[in-house]
Amino acid sequence: MLIEKNDVELSVVIPMYNEELNIDYLFERLLCVLARLKMKYEIVCVNDGSKDNTLKYLVEYHQCNPTIKVVNLSRNFGKEIALTAGIDYATGAAVVPIDADLQDPPELIEELIAKWREGYDVVYATRLSRQGETWLKRFTANAFYQIIARLSPIPIPCNTGDFRLLDRRVVNVLKQMPEQNRFMKGLFAWVGFKQTSILFERPQRYKGTTKWNYWRLWNFAIGGITSFSFIPLKVWSYIGLAFSLFSFLYASFMIIRTFLFGIVVPGYASLMVVVLFLGGVQLLSLGIIGEYLGRVYEEVKGRPLYVVRECYGFVSESLNHTFVSK
Ligand code: UDP
Ligand code: MG
Repeated sequence: MLIEKNDVELSVVIPMYNEELNIDYLFERLLCVLARLKMKYEIVCVNDGSKDNTLKYLVEYHQCNPTIKVVNLSRNFGKEIALTAGIDYATGAAVVPIDADLQDPPELIEELIAKWREGYDVVYATRLSRQGETWLKRFTANAFYQIIARLSPIPIPCNTGDFRLLDRRVVNVLKQMPEQNRFMKGLFAWVGFKQTSILFERPQRYKGTTKWNYWRLWNFAIGGITSFSFIPLKVWSYIGLAFSLFSFLYASFMIIRTFLFGIVVPGYASLMVVVLFLGGVQLLSLGIIGEYLGRVYEEVKGRPLYVVRECYGFVSESLNHTFVSK
């Protein structure tokens, strides 16, 4: 890794994509909390290819306060990868990823730290409510958590975002996970360790708008399910088996009926229904296989997860401009 060991106790990791309106208030609240904690800390901000002045402001903050460090990615890689980059660069004994839009109240870090000091390796913050979100968003989010809970062999906590505290032990395991499809909630759960949760009311975004439209959320959900469950792939064998059994029974019935009562010609409607239905099922199953195959293809290409253009405030700055390969 690029970073040399130091004695930072707490690293706060913030992925940022077009968050210029939130930066001032975020740092105001965050720095106030961190000052109260009296720990040696660093704030690792990852600029995920923002098109606004986010990077400029971050660099200005870094120049005034060297505990604020900046990793500038070469383009927008998406939140999950930006977060991975931040976690890779963080050096603290505990790492806390947090959103830049103040939906994860920085004040909760104190509670996370308290639990960590009790001996937990992962302390996640679970939302009690989702303020300011439409019923459709709440419904789809709930449905997603229900589905993934049923499909994934690893329990993934419901209503829990990426806001949590991770002990260095956990971070070191996460850094060894090379997958391109980074469904962080799942990866955090996969590592195991001693986990606990605290509850909080999730406020609305402070400024700006969410970058997650429904299409992005849908793809995120598919990514999460495919990387944590084989059931969508396996289920087709069982569906196929059920159809074959049913066809066999129906064929036997037709043969016997033909022997007993002769040939009955009508049947166009039922024939059409069966052909169309089976065609649909086959296409769907092919689509699902394609989904997994695409992901395998992504993985075998073995590209680096992210490309760093430059960074500010890290020890080995001479190693900038290189990508971090896993
Ligand atoms: N984010 C990012 N890259 C992206 C999209 C989002 O780094 O491509 C960051 C964003 O700046 C914020 C966090 O991820 O700090 C959460 O994003 P957002 O508030 O849009 O998501 P939501 O809270 O609606 O799930
Ligand atoms: Mg948000």
